[in-house]
Amino acid sequence: MEINEIKHLVKCDFSGCNNLAKYSFSTKGLLKKDLCFCEECLRQMYEIMAKMQKPRSITSPFKLNKRMKKQ
Ligand SMILES: [Zn+2]
Repeated sequence: MEINEIKHLVKCDFSGCNNLAKYSFSTKGLLKKDLCFCEECLRQMYEIMAKMQKPRSITSPFKLNKRMKKQ
């Protein structure tokens, strides 16, 4: 899987978005069609992914270990 910059004019695949796509997400056949999206949609996807990652780092066992050593 990889993300490539699009050099031709394609519309963003996200519904409700009228921007031109700037990137394509290629799954090399895992999806029927490469997903094309604009910079704005890439940012939104990144924010969603970042939110999913955050809770894990907050409850990281490493931080708890550090606290216990100090006491
Ligand atoms: Zn878009």
